[in-house]
Amino acid sequence: MAKIICVLYDDPVDGYPTSYARDGIPEILKYPDGQTAPTPKAMDFKPGELLGSVSGELGLRKFLEAEGHTLVVTSDKDGENSTLDQELFDAEIVISQPFWPAYMTAERFARAPKLKLIITAGIGSDHTDLQAAMEHGVTVAEVTYSNSNSVAEHVAMMILGLVRNYIPSYDWVIKEGWNIADCVARSYDVEGMHVGTVAAGRIGLRVLRLMKPFGLHLHYLDRHRLPEAIEQELNLTYHDNLKSLTEACDIVTLNCPLHPQTEHMVNAETLKHFKRGAYLINTARGKLCDRDAIVSALESGQLAGYAGDVWFPQPAPRNHPWRTMPHHGMTPHISGTSLSAQTRYAAGTREILECYFSGQPIRQEYLIVEGGKLAGVGAHSYSPGNATGGSEEAARFKK
Ligand code: NDP
Repeated sequence: MAKIICVLYDDPVDGYPTSYARDGIPEILKYPDGQTAPTPKAMDFKPGELLGSVSGELGLRKFLEAEGHTLVVTSDKDGENSTLDQELFDAEIVISQPFWPAYMTAERFARAPKLKLIITAGIGSDHTDLQAAMEHGVTVAEVTYSNSNSVAEHVAMMILGLVRNYIPSYDWVIKEGWNIADCVARSYDVEGMHVGTVAAGRIGLRVLRLMKPFGLHLHYLDRHRLPEAIEQELNLTYHDNLKSLTEACDIVTLNCPLHPQTEHMVNAETLKHFKRGAYLINTARGKLCDRDAIVSALESGQLAGYAGDVWFPQPAPRNHPWRTMPHHGMTPHISGTSLSAQTRYAAGTREILECYFSGQPIRQEYLIVEGGKLAGVGAHSYSPGNATGGSEEAARFKK
């Protein structure tokens, strides 16, 4: 029987919900490319419940304990002697969400000799040292597509929020003001602007589709070109390098995974090629950007705004400069963990576990690493190596 450690974010400060704002969520059976939503044999939760916090347990306890497994659920993942570290010695499976990632570093692999499977409940497995996973023969899987559309909605919201200067205008209402000029002195229409996505995968392409009706010109950069029919349908301009994309765009949105090729792709040097007053939206991973270069670009006016929900490390230290830099629209990492998204990735996590325990293959589209090499989506979208360096800094949040 297996021991499973599930690292989840804390419950709400006022306690685990006893009721919800809505009575349910729409049922999504298929994603835009035809891939089916998760198909576990059963689910022990009601769609729309809070599953991603410790008391929600991703809805897994009944299922796992009925099969005789041991489930340890904790939010204590960073710093000396964390519960995660204490429990690793006999763990077979580690599950965590990118919002509150269990950084599975080489040191942690060394402490976990029985580890066989790491599941990302969500999308983006950069918090696992993929090189170490390959070397230890550990399978890494994530719930591909489960929250891609959720993130794309968030990107669209943040583009509009930044360009139209929504958050400072909202603040004037709270401050009992009616300061129209203060609000609009930085407020523009998106219509007619050029928006470009770095990566036109599931999220990037969805962002382009969502922005199209606003009358923007659409651009993308990717390692693989989209089918001609899609380029024509959306009237897309393709760029084969970041300089060309950023020189052309008023709004840039990052939608690629974090891996050694993409780490710090936006830095002091590459920011010089952005248009002055560009907006940058990053809901992909904090480490795609050089932290201090973003702050400087906002202070100098090279960037007119920066918004996103991803930081490095997570949770972000309380004095992280992105909390206080000018013209930002940051949130904690929430875009992919709406109640709607949680239902899908909790179901997908269960599907992966059911396959693993019954010896059935895990869906190809869920695989990142298998059999000592990148596999499935991992082989398509990642590069070998490790992007967890510096993750020990996450312990500073506790202090
Ligand atoms: P996909 O796998 O569908 O898309 C990723 C795309 O990135 C692929 O098209 C891939 O291109 C492209 N890519 C990879 N490396 C590069 C590169 N060096 N330059 C340009 N493009 C590159 O994933 P999703 O769209 O679903 O998710 C993307 C990322 O968004 C995730 O990896 C994750 O980090 C983040 N995410 C964030 C969430 C949040 O809550 N904020 C939730 C979900 C995801 P190709 O395959 O053609 O090489």
